[in-house]
Amino acid sequence: MADKVIPLADHRYASTVPVVPAIIMPAGGHVADTLGRPLRDLRISVTDRCNFRCSYCMPKEVFDKQYQFLPHSSLLSFEEITRVARLFVAHGVHKIRLTGGEPLLRKNIEVLVEMLSALRTPSGEPLDLTLTTNASVLAKKAQALKDAGLQRITVSLDALDDAIFRRMNDADFPVAEVLDGIAAAERVGLGPIKVNMVIKRGTNDDEIIPLARHFKGSPIILRFIEYMDVGATNGWRMDEVLPSAQVIARLNEVFPVEAIEPNCLGETAERWRYRDGSGEIGVISSVTQAFCHDCNRARLSTEGKLYLCLFASQGHDLRALLRGSYSDEQIAAAIGLIWQGRADRYSELRGAFGAEAGSGQRRVEMHYIGG
Ligand code: SAM
Ligand code: SF4
Ligand code: SF4
Repeated sequence: MADKVIPLADHRYASTVPVVPAIIMPAGGHVADTLGRPLRDLRISVTDRCNFRCSYCMPKEVFDKQYQFLPHSSLLSFEEITRVARLFVAHGVHKIRLTGGEPLLRKNIEVLVEMLSALRTPSGEPLDLTLTTNASVLAKKAQALKDAGLQRITVSLDALDDAIFRRMNDADFPVAEVLDGIAAAERVGLGPIKVNMVIKRGTNDDEIIPLARHFKGSPIILRFIEYMDVGATNGWRMDEVLPSAQVIARLNEVFPVEAIEPNCLGETAERWRYRDGSGEIGVISSVTQAFCHDCNRARLSTEGKLYLCLFASQGHDLRALLRGSYSDEQIAAAIGLIWQGRADRYSELRGAFGAEAGSGQRRVEMHYIGG
């Protein structure tokens, strides 16, 4: 049997130390990349660890007992996260999503939520602060998160059937506890709650209708996500992707639906509603309908590297600046320069040239930069 190769934690992904410009232009609340896209949305991965082993994200064969997760010293501290988040806000970010790995596994996460909820946009508005979770410990944490200033929450749930759900999370975790977590979030007012279902054709596509039926008639927005070729470990195959158009067609046969207007530019989900007025659903078609043209999202990895695209292979090591002797103005200027040089549009290129579009370079894993 071939020896297993275990990547060294701190060298697993290439990164460069950002250039700090000699002449500092103060952040003016707006910065655009080479395609004219503003910087509006920051996703922060607060841990690379997770108690689930969803096959499309952290397959057990790779993320086993020998896998070396990042040591605690590599992680950005809450103070470092808040400092860098403030600099992003100065450039126009008004939405922050905490993610991971499983963000609720990061110790005292509610303290970070409290620190981030105190940030204000240049015009004095609070941020849209949210978190994506597998909800395994949400029932216990919902109240503390709400009290700390979290506004809303997104829960991942791939099946209503307990056996299918346990198989998909590959940690034998029961669906009832996730539903309890959602109920707790509803009770404390962490809404509007969104529930994300990643669909793998042949694995959980029979769960589309049961999940739709379960949430229909409630304020919870169920969103169907196309299985993506993110990272390098999930063995992605196009024939396991169920195009959103087919999801809508299947739904429409049982519960007639109609398209509705987007809430804002750069929104990932296409919005639909039931014709009988019993609620909203969404589809996220990252594979079959690229939405790079108005992608305004930046991602900060667990160890403080900035990624300009979910499919990037190279990060920008902001931690090196945060732990160096740079002022806020200098780091903000470096961030502005990085964004101004951004040209990423992987999904559009995949659409044009196939999944080989970004091959040749090792892609970053989802649990490390956050979904
Ligand atoms: N652990 C949390 C959770 O599962 O909600 C947060 C992190 S997880 C990486 C964020 C989101 O990415 C989840 O909704 C998950 O379903 C989604 N995701 C992970 N791998 C994916 C893939 N290959 N294709 C599509 N979505 C994926
Ligand atoms: Fe964990 Fe979320 Fe990835 Fe599943 S999708 S393995 S819950 S980080
Ligand atoms: Fe944004 Fe990259 Fe996804 Fe395109 S592929 S929408 S640029 S994250």
